[in-house]
Amino acid sequence: SQDPDVQQKCGFYDNGLTEKLKKELELSELFESSLKNHDFQVYLQPKTELKSGKAAGAEALVRWLHPERGMILPGDFIPLFEKNGKICELDLYVFKEVCKLLKRWIHEGRKLLPVSVNLSRQHFRTAETLKRFYDIAKEYGIPQGIIEFELTESIFFDNKQIKIVQESIRKMHQYGFLCSLDDFGSGFSSLGLLKEFDVDTIKLDRSFFINTSGTKAKEVIRCLIELAQSLDVQTVAEGIEKPEQLDYLRAVGCDMVQGYIYSRPLPIPEFEEFIEKM
Ligand code: C2E
Ligand code: MG
Ligand code: MG
Ligand code: MG
Repeated sequence: SQDPDVQQKCGFYDNGLTEKLKKELELSELFESSLKNHDFQVYLQPKTELKSGKAAGAEALVRWLHPERGMILPGDFIPLFEKNGKICELDLYVFKEVCKLLKRWIHEGRKLLPVSVNLSRQHFRTAETLKRFYDIAKEYGIPQGIIEFELTESIFFDNKQIKIVQESIRKMHQYGFLCSLDDFGSGFSSLGLLKEFDVDTIKLDRSFFINTSGTKAKEVIRCLIELAQSLDVQTVAEGIEKPEQLDYLRAVGCDMVQGYIYSRPLPIPEFEEFIEKM
């Protein structure tokens, strides 16, 4: 086009795109060395049982401690690593770090808390991947029922993956892992998911609790928790920040809460301190 205005806009767009690609390329290239240097670290965020107020588990959340840029949060690199395929390697790294930690807790005679690890949809191209996790857990001597995998809601909507995900969950259980449905309610969740997939826990997405002042929002939460209870599925409320949210969740019988109200994700030594003080 000869229109200078259009040309300029395209130019801007191109520059922006190039910048983004440059950044992505740079992060991609840093991946291997960062993995070797342990620049990826596992943080833990406690899950608290509402009834007792006691720690009931933790979620492993990866942090990239970049030597020059400081801490990079998952939102800035997970989508990239999902595209370039490095996410599987990173998940495996996080999983191994969690196994190492649990092994140390066993060695030190600490009470074992269940720890959950997020798994990208990329693992569910075949149901064979789970075997690798099983072999590693066995190598580290991790007892059954301690490690849980979190699968994000969107995985369950890919028609090509349904059978593989069902088979994978079956294997998870056979191998002694638990399975939770993450970010439930972040998209157009279907209650059918609970019927088709044998998950142990659902994690109600943070978006449910952003505006709970209305009676409708409250009723939806109440009914979902009741449904989960009748299906013998545990419930975790994610992203809880305010005391009034806690009051309501307690009243409707939600099992666990994970959110800043109790703690942000913490480096492992700080998490251990936090647990000891509880
Ligand atoms: P997620 O699995 O749903 O994890 C919960 C996210 O909510 C975490 O963000 C956590 O820091 C944040 N959060 C917890 N409590 C609160 C709260 O009270 N208020 C607010 N505003 N946020 C809260 P984070 O650590 O930035 O992780 C974002 C997402 O990145 C995770 O969402 C998960 O999908 C993904 N992710 C993190 N670590 C891994 C990993 O090792 N592997 C894979 N595949 N994905 C990961
Ligand atoms: Mg999660
Ligand atoms: Mg979540
Ligand atoms: Mg979420």
